[in-house]
Amino acid sequence: MGWSLTIGSIAGTAVRIHVTFLLFLAWIFGVSYLSGGPQAAWSGLLFMMLLFLCVLLHEFGHIFTARAFGVTTPDVILLPIGGVARLERIPERPSEEFLIAIAGPLVNVAIAGLLVLFGADLTPSHLVAIQSTKGSLVDRLAEVNVFLALFNLIPAFPMDGGRVLRALLAARFGYVRATEMAAAIGQGVAFLLGFIGLFGNPLLLFIAIFVYLAAASEAHLVAIRAMSHGVPVTAAMMTQFATLTPEEHIDIAVETLLRTSQGEFPVVDGRGRPLGVLVRNNLIRALKEHGPDAKVGDAMTAQIPILGHRHCLDEAFRLLQEKPAPVVGIVDASDRLIGLVTSETVGEMLMLHRAMPAGFRFGPWSRPAGA
Ligand SMILES: [Zn+2]
Repeated sequence: MGWSLTIGSIAGTAVRIHVTFLLFLAWIFGVSYLSGGPQAAWSGLLFMMLLFLCVLLHEFGHIFTARAFGVTTPDVILLPIGGVARLERIPERPSEEFLIAIAGPLVNVAIAGLLVLFGADLTPSHLVAIQSTKGSLVDRLAEVNVFLALFNLIPAFPMDGGRVLRALLAARFGYVRATEMAAAIGQGVAFLLGFIGLFGNPLLLFIAIFVYLAAASEAHLVAIRAMSHGVPVTAAMMTQFATLTPEEHIDIAVETLLRTSQGEFPVVDGRGRPLGVLVRNNLIRALKEHGPDAKVGDAMTAQIPILGHRHCLDEAFRLLQEKPAPVVGIVDASDRLIGLVTSETVGEMLMLHRAMPAGFRFGPWSRPAGA
């Protein structure tokens, strides 16, 4: 994600802070300064930083559990709305997803428990005043950890509770069906939250919209994964596309960009083997910095995920998601580039798939006899 600073790395996972999070801290500082003077400002800032330390520990609950199942996490990013750990992949085995999802909220429960051991007061009369700035720092931290655990267990994507729910349903109904059910339940919860929010809590309304959209997108992702499983990548790849060579000048690329509807251009060597990809941003930056005589080879992104033509579409989709890459190059047995898969091609495929009769599978073997 752009606009974020890496502040360090813990056990191989980069910890990043989004710029909006720093702005958020500055805002908290400013608001508490105005309402309570410098002391309130510093204690407000300290509280926020401790709160986000708890959020970070929550994320590392997910990260270390995922690692136990062989799933690595390249980075975790702190946003004003919380932390996001980018898992390299989502395990499809329900028991693994269940444990990874529940580990985060359990960390908050553990922190709250520890704070209570050290004298924090968690009596219900305190709990109602979660937004208030009264009470000791330890009390408020304990409360907020209880709140984090409960909030994350709301059974809706992208909350951990949504994943817990899917994992429980998946054990019985299968992954795709379970995702649809969990997404529908999550959207129901979102409606409920939004309805309550209408009566005076705009924050709740905001969360409801966020949850509603996230549920739809999770269902969409899983539908694509299910649709592309077992489909040969050659059935979905683009085969008509312009390529560039590294020695060509950028002005040739500009001309090609204008002449075609392509947004990303594979760069190939003399024998048609892929070397990289030139996307619009590369092009614009090279033009600005070096002018039209810049070489394509110097401007391109050298890393392009490559997949053999015998692989399945779901693998190409996984590569698109993971890297995240603008395009996956498909090569034949002699490593020559023969096709491209982009998220648009995958999206079009899903649309076609939905328009087809039930049970239809893409691929040469799926055509009815005589067709
Ligand atoms: Zn979580």
